[in-house]
Amino acid sequence: MKQIIAIDGPSGVGKSSVSKQLAKALGWTYLDTGATYRAVTLAWLRSDRKVERLADGAWLAGLDIDFREGAVYLNGEDVSQAIRTEEVTAQVSLVSAQSGVRADLTRLQRKIGNLRPCILDGRDIGTVVFPDAFLKVFLTAGEAVRARRRWTQLGGERSGRSFEQVLEDQRVRDRKDASRSLAPLKKADDAWELDTDTYDQDQVAALIEREARR
Ligand code: C5P
Repeated sequence: MKQIIAIDGPSGVGKSSVSKQLAKALGWTYLDTGATYRAVTLAWLRSDRKVERLADGAWLAGLDIDFREGAVYLNGEDVSQAIRTEEVTAQVSLVSAQSGVRADLTRLQRKIGNLRPCILDGRDIGTVVFPDAFLKVFLTAGEAVRARRRWTQLGGERSGRSFEQVLEDQRVRDRKDASRSLAPLKKADDAWELDTDTYDQDQVAALIEREARR
């Protein structure tokens, strides 16, 4: 069994906050795999935006994605903020549905995870990236609860977006992530499904930590 904890689930379920907290508690590395898909999306939005570009092996190989001290780097540039824009969020499902992109990023995620004990969050960690993870968790929550968490994270009223807009965008992205033919969002058969509707972040992290230390 690999020293890997896989945290999968739909958008807005709290994967990244819980994973960060857990990584701190266990002294393990945290890898946000969604950020790798977002970084490729940002690079593509800065290119000619042709869909064929996403199948161009040389173009993909020229993208250097790196994580250092909690920041995400694309070809040496800190893109931690730039990958969170609405434009990137709106296009990331298109980019993540491309086989060449998935193959490249799966390879990168495995390389990082094989170096040291790691907590990875995403959509396909327990099913594809690390099916031999030592602990697999699938987080769920109702769509309104998730959209509310996302909206609050964006700044609530100050974000300039309504709660309903955030909910609708989330519905669209969930549908795309769950219906794509490659690595669709799906619970691994041996994953522990944890419904977080009635728990806060500390409680979810504590439940997973207890399981990891058993
Ligand atoms: O987790 P986050 O919302 O930042 O992920 C952004 C997008 O990246 C998801 O909507 C999904 O399309 C894609 N993704 C993926 N596989 C992963 C992680 C993220 O396809 N393991």
